[in-house]
Amino acid sequence: MVALPADRSGPAPDPPASPDLAARLAVAHSSELIITIDAAGRVRAANPAALAALGGAPDQLLGALWLDLLDPGSRAKGQALLAAAARGTADAYELNHGGAARAIVMVSYRAIPLPDPALSAPQTLLIGRPLATAIAATERLVALNRRLSALFAIAAVAARALRPAEMLDEVLRLLLADLDARAGLVWLSTAPAGAFSLAAQRGLPAAESERLRDWPLALGERLRRGEPFVITAPDLGADQGELLRPFGPLATLLAAPIWIERRLIGWLCVIADRYQAFGPDAHDLAASVGALLGPPLERARLLDRLIEIAGQLGAVLDSIDSGVLLIDTAGTIRYANRRLGELLGTDVSDWPGQPRDARLDALLVPLGEAGQLFDQPLLATTGARPRVLRRFSDQIADAAGVQAGLIEVYSDVSQIHHMDRLKDEFIAAAAHDLKTPVTAVKGYAQIALRLAQRVEERRLIAPLEMINARSSDLAYLMDTLLDMSRIQAGRLRLELEPVALQDLVARAVRHFSLDTQRQRRSIAVELPPAPLEVLWDAPRIERVLINLIGNALKYSPEGGDVRVRALGQPGAVELSVTDSGIGIASDEREQVFERFYRARQTVADCFKGSGLGLYICQSVVAAHGGRIWAADALHGGRGTTVFAVLPRVVEDDESDEG
Ligand code: ATP
Ligand code: MG
Repeated sequence: MVALPADRSGPAPDPPASPDLAARLAVAHSSELIITIDAAGRVRAANPAALAALGGAPDQLLGALWLDLLDPGSRAKGQALLAAAARGTADAYELNHGGAARAIVMVSYRAIPLPDPALSAPQTLLIGRPLATAIAATERLVALNRRLSALFAIAAVAARALRPAEMLDEVLRLLLADLDARAGLVWLSTAPAGAFSLAAQRGLPAAESERLRDWPLALGERLRRGEPFVITAPDLGADQGELLRPFGPLATLLAAPIWIERRLIGWLCVIADRYQAFGPDAHDLAASVGALLGPPLERARLLDRLIEIAGQLGAVLDSIDSGVLLIDTAGTIRYANRRLGELLGTDVSDWPGQPRDARLDALLVPLGEAGQLFDQPLLATTGARPRVLRRFSDQIADAAGVQAGLIEVYSDVSQIHHMDRLKDEFIAAAAHDLKTPVTAVKGYAQIALRLAQRVEERRLIAPLEMINARSSDLAYLMDTLLDMSRIQAGRLRLELEPVALQDLVARAVRHFSLDTQRQRRSIAVELPPAPLEVLWDAPRIERVLINLIGNALKYSPEGGDVRVRALGQPGAVELSVTDSGIGIASDEREQVFERFYRARQTVADCFKGSGLGLYICQSVVAAHGGRIWAADALHGGRGTTVFAVLPRVVEDDESDEG
């Protein structure tokens, strides 16, 4: 036995008595391989580490050729090592021990010629450092690095891509390359829970595509569990084994679920043609990729949905008959539909991103008509084909109620506007033509009435009074209609004249004398004590009073006093008409002055009326530089008071307005 330590199995020796013994012990316990070989290359001595690495009984190894103990692939290199040792160049050589039957052990050898003159023949000392553990660790690191790189590449693809099909295809390509697999598939869940449809595939024979639809079904139970799994062709039953048939009898399938939050949205599968092709690393990688795919797929799905909805909305907005403009809080246009361009006679496709006012102001001018048939302002286009547009605008708020911008909707009302004009013109013409005969009727009725009163012809007096009163009504109506068309056309001109306030009020009240007599009602009048002269368009203010008194009588059907007051104020006169009738709800007190507006209660109670009287009153009062408004009955209680405050002297230039 040539094992260097004299006795390896005995108890630990006493502290070394000599350097020689210390050296022997060091050799015996070294983890490095220490071998001496003779000139013929035979092993002369080997320490326990070397014996373990060379893998054999000492008596078999000692005397054996060291080169024979190397793996055949390393023998040439071994020879080179010995040659180098003979030359005295002591490089390290990595050599493999082992061979067909034994495991390979990689050793980094240095060779030192032994100079000891006592030795009969030259020997070589080989010192070897086993590399197996280091290499295994390195290999793992390399493998891990490769996996991480693959995962990183896949994550990058997933994060970048917005189109799921392309993204999945690229992910499969990377994954198949990394796992050395033949085919890959991704199924994504479709509407009914639990149903999956193929979203991407790579490496499948064309003929398989037809059968793919059934795969999730065949893997059913396993898929339902929602955990990663591996199956091999031999594990599967005869019918399910069909799935993997194209990949050979030993095929392996690795499946990993795709999650988004707690929702299973799909499966990722890779197939290799080797038995048990996927180790724990592959398992982890597939699971990580599955987890990684959830968010981008969900993002892509939401984006698709958004695009779909936006497309639908865009189609709707482009097909409606109104122009639509969306403006953000900064006044920048966010969207303009095609129709808006048609209405304005311009191309609006490049409007988004531009300031609203800059684009729109030159193309639309307000139609400066006093009073409108429409509740929204009207605008005229300045383009080649003039149109009248009605603008409706409203705030847009986000889900939290924060204001996000403005929507403006433009509709073409040119036709209606034109008809409205025609109607006004017709009414004006008709009223004008009717007024002459009505004035004549009224004049002759008055003459006849005076004659009848003089001869005390009682049978005639009452009918003539009636003719007189009704022709006054008619004349009043004609004047009202004429005024309305003038107001509409912006052509209301006041004809100012000095008039005694007391006379004016008295004439208006007298207009109702016949009605009040018959209804046994009275109109109480309160006037300033001293005569007061005003410079007004007297017939028009008289008609304002007639209108207000008429309303007061009409809307107090249960009777009750109507009170007319004229109060002198510094430089002005306050007129008011009070009744104790049905009243005007406080939220409608401004609207009743709009054209055609009739209060809810009035409509509900079936009062007759056109909703024009107060509109005209308001226009006439405004033309005088005054103000009119509705309030509660004076001194509380049921009813209404309408006030009108007018300057006593109206400047002449105001009469030209309009
Ligand atoms: P017309 O054009 O024949 O006068 P109208 O009386 O309906 O019709 P306006 O005089 O303009 O129209 O009045 C508008 C509305 O205001 C009325 O329909 C009615 O609802 C309400 N209103 C006006 N005066 C009174 C009042 N004194 N009491 C209650 N409601 C009133
Ligand atoms: Mg009225």
